[in-house]
Amino acid sequence: MRPDLGPKPLLGYTDSILARVAERRSDQAFLAACAADGTRGTFAIGGELVVMRKTANGPDPLFRAEEARALAPTAETVFLGLAGKEGRFGIALDPEATKQLKERSDLLVTDLRSIAVQGLVGPEHLAPLAEAKALLAWHARHRFCANCGQPTKISQAGWKRECPACKVEHFPRTDPVAIMLAIDGERCLLGRAGRFVQNMWSCLAGFIEPGESIEDAVRRETLEEAGIVCGEVEYFASQPWPFPMSLMIGCHARATSSAITVDREELEDARWFSRDEVALMFTGAHPEKISIPPPIAIAHHIIRAWVEEGDGVFA
Ligand SMILES: [Zn+2]
Repeated sequence: MRPDLGPKPLLGYTDSILARVAERRSDQAFLAACAADGTRGTFAIGGELVVMRKTANGPDPLFRAEEARALAPTAETVFLGLAGKEGRFGIALDPEATKQLKERSDLLVTDLRSIAVQGLVGPEHLAPLAEAKALLAWHARHRFCANCGQPTKISQAGWKRECPACKVEHFPRTDPVAIMLAIDGERCLLGRAGRFVQNMWSCLAGFIEPGESIEDAVRRETLEEAGIVCGEVEYFASQPWPFPMSLMIGCHARATSSAITVDREELEDARWFSRDEVALMFTGAHPEKISIPPPIAIAHHIIRAWVEEGDGVFA
């Protein structure tokens, strides 16, 4: 009998509490009023690191605007949206100066993966932090015009960069990644990359290429990485993945071949696992101590849905 996997955990970085109010992004009076109202509404991010204040109630990632600016030399400030009536902003700190902040006893400075995996902040902060990190990472890499090479200027409270020389407008990008579980009846295909923690196996994944549908990307990546042919592809869910600015698009796919050929450039190994065996990975009872990714990752949810619903994941 399959074990009961318990209540469904939250999928990290999703279900943002923020209203993005895109129509207010060029309203300078509104933005100034939001920034000046003295509330703690600013996330401070330096490269991969998020700065948080230590409080009696645990780490708090929100600063007053002037507190955030006093932490380290800063670059762009972006408007993320409204939490109720309070503005939320992200400010980019110099990454090297942010590393030095780890020395301060009143601050906790760590990366956004650790914050999510360890549950260091409430779920209400995770999606806004992901939004801030991805948007600020885009600014850090797009200070010059891709069309003519001249420096560009931030506008629309961070949602656009404009080139004063050639007038081209540049918008923040999101890189789509297909992440999928190939299924052959009562078994599924999991892979292991060398960078994974020991004994962890997961879904296969890869960037969707220009001119490619999600379904085609799922079939191509599964064929390239494991030599498995897939037919039907069913969308499951998506997740912002701000490392640095991806969108994970989760799918289930019906395998139509079974002989695995592993691409050793991409994967250490790939194997078929039975549904009963995968269920044991969720409860930590797998005989080879094999585990799957934590609930923060969409892979966990894609795999769990199949363990619980079997062929029901296909419409
Ligand atoms: Zn230009």
